Order: sequence, then structure tokens, then C-alpha cells
Amino acid sequence: MVRRPRPPAARPCLPGYDTLGTLRHLRTTEDIAGYDHSWFVLTRRIIEKEFALSGSEQNPDITAKDRAGFLRTRLLGKGAPGPVDAFLRKGADFVSATTLEQLVEKMNALTGKPLLDAAVVRRQIEARDLQMENAYSKDAQVQGIRNARRYIGDRLGRVATPHRILDPAAGPLIGVKLNILTRKTLGGIQTDLESRALGADGQPVEGLYAAGEVAGFGGGGVHGYNALEGTFLGGCLFSGRAAGRAAAARTA
Ligand SMILES: Cc1cc2nc3c(=O)[nH]c(=O)nc-3n(C[C@H](O)[C@H](O)[C@H](O)COP(=O)(O)OP(=O)(O)OC[C@H]3O[C@@H](n4cnc5c(N)ncnc54)[C@H](O)[C@@H]3O)c2cc1C
Repeated sequence: MVRRPRPPAARPCLPGYDTLGTLRHLRTTEDIAGYDHSWFVLTRRIIEKEFALSGSEQNPDITAKDRAGFLRTRLLGKGAPGPVDAFLRKGADFVSATTLEQLVEKMNALTGKPLLDAAVVRRQIEARDLQMENAYSKDAQVQGIRNARRYIGDRLGRVATPHRILDPAAGPLIGVKLNILTRKTLGGIQTDLESRALGADGQPVEGLYAAGEVAGFGGGGVHGYNALEGTFLGGCLFSGRAAGRAAAARTA
């Protein structure tokens, strides 16, 4: 018999919003911990705006400094940037449909098992959609969206105008199969202010330096446990500079 995972907890388990919380939920909730994927359900209107800014390789208008292209796609919402559109059409983990039932059928086909019950998914999404119409909603996901839009830069260029997932005008519906993977470490080697690696006794190991991600400068220690995206490189360079200077001073 195929086990059908329970719907996620009330908290907004959205990667990028609370990635650690999402991973914790996926890895520790008994009836879903055995799966190495989850699903992101969204609309075309959301993907056009919100996928667009999640990686420079997906943003040729930004990396090529194409201001007109940026305005067209981000601010005026005139279609997804090319790479995002290619994901939609060719991505192995992307499915799209006009009705939720068709979408769930495609999602189940992609995993080869009927893991998702369309009625349960519909209940979840309808509950979320109802909250969108409540100006005083206490739904954590809705509050998160509204909070993100308080900053004008994000409102204009990054966060889609709040709408119902099941609004046909925002469609088609899209399901993205998210696979769990590790793409960063939060360190492990303890160092001193000169980036000298410390041994188990807390003393510097002669001639051994550690800098960058391996020393906890890619998020983690230096920027707090939640490792704010986009703040990794600075700390990595900074600790590399400290290591280089200390090593050079010792050999001078
Ligand atoms: C997809 C992605 C997007 C990111 N986006 C951002 C961003 O927008 N902003 C930001 O600030 N940070 C970002 N980061 C994080 C940032 O890129 C890394 O934290 C940073 O590059 C780590 O630098 P590093 O020199 O410590 O390690 P790395 O760049 O991982 O360098 C380690 C090097 O050691 C080599 N190596 C490993 N084992 C051995 C061995 N045994 N012998 C010899 N060589 C070995 C590896 O090949 C590698 O070249 C991103 C990371 C990823 C994966």
C-alpha cells in the first residue's frame, strides 16, 4: 500500500522563506521523512516574478544590465525571462496544468506513485486562497507575503501581487518537484582571528589555515545560524584575506 503523506504543518514551509524550518519539517515528520522530495505549487503569475530573481544564471536581463528587459519582465510582468520559461517547458521537475486535479495527476505521474490526494491538496490551497481575501489574516504564509511587499523594491520586482492560487487568470497552475540537497556547509573547522585552524585542544595547528565556507564564513557562524542568502562570499573573502596576510607575515 502506498503511504499518503499528511499535508504540511500550518507554518509556511517554503524554501527560501524558511528553508531550515522546511527541511526540519520534511526530515522529521514521521510519514514524509522517507521521501527526498516535496512540491511547490504556484501559478504562472508567481513563477514569472518570483523565480526570476532566485539565481543570477536565470536573470540574463540583470547580468547583461538590460534595463528595458528588466522593466518588461519584472515590473510590467510581461512573461517569464527566457531561462525560467525554458524550465517551465523542459524542466524534468516541472509540471503544469489548467486544473488542480490534472496538476496532481501529473505530479503523481512524475513520482510514479499516487502519493498525493487531489482532494487534500485542494483543501489546503482553498484554505490558503480564502485567507488571501482576509485583510486581517493571521495565516503565517499570507502575513509573510504581505510583509515581503512592504519594501518597495521587493513589491515592484520580486514578490508577485497576492492572488488566489486557483484564480484561472493567474494560471496555468505549476508544480515544481523540489529535491532535497546540500549546496553549502556551515563550516566545521574552528579558527582564530588570523584564520589559523585550531586543534581539538583549542590551540593553533602550526602552518594550517582555514578560510571560507569550511571555516564557517559561508553563513553559519559569522552571519547567524540561518545563514542569510547572499552574504556568504564576503565572509569567505574576508577570512581568506586574513589567512593570506597571517601566512605571509609568518614567512616574511
Ligand atoms: C548555487 C550556489 C549559489 C550561491 N550563491 C551565492 C550568492 O549569491 N552570494 C553569496 O554570497 N554566496 C553564494 N553562494 C555561496 C558561496 O558561493 C560559497 O559559500 C563560497 O563560494 C565558498 O567559497 P570557498 O572558497 O570557501 O569554497 P569553495 O568555493 O567551495 O572552494 C573549495 C575548493 O576546494 C576544492 N577542493 C575540495 N576538495 C579538495 C581536495 N581534496 N583537494 C584540492 N581541492 C579541493 C574544490 O574543488 C573547490 O574549488 C552560493 C553557493 C552555491 C552553491
